[in-house]
Amino acid sequence: MPRLGDISTRPCADCGESMYWTEAAVRHPDLLARTSGGGSDAAFVDAYRCANGHTSKECPLCGSYDTAAWADSEARHYHVICAACGNDSVVQA
Ligand SMILES: [Zn+2]
Ligand SMILES: [Zn+2]
Repeated sequence: MPRLGDISTRPCADCGESMYWTEAAVRHPDLLARTSGGGSDAAFVDAYRCANGHTSKECPLCGSYDTAAWADSEARHYHVICAACGNDSVVQA
């Protein structure tokens, strides 16, 4: 797990800016669904975030946001490499 402020090994897949590990950067719909009554910080997870507000992609295999990603030439897919489980995935843009 990265520490707060750590820079990602790859720039943002969407805009090319550097990405930094950020606390509660992503609103997580699965966690939100599990949280009854709402109003909880548990609906947010840590992730890499760039200056333009883009966040790193979720690993579809283990759910970690400790990932490096890049878009394919037509940006219809992202290639996601997960630092937590080591898997290499392709996800829809
Ligand atoms: Zn970006
Ligand atoms: Zn993973």
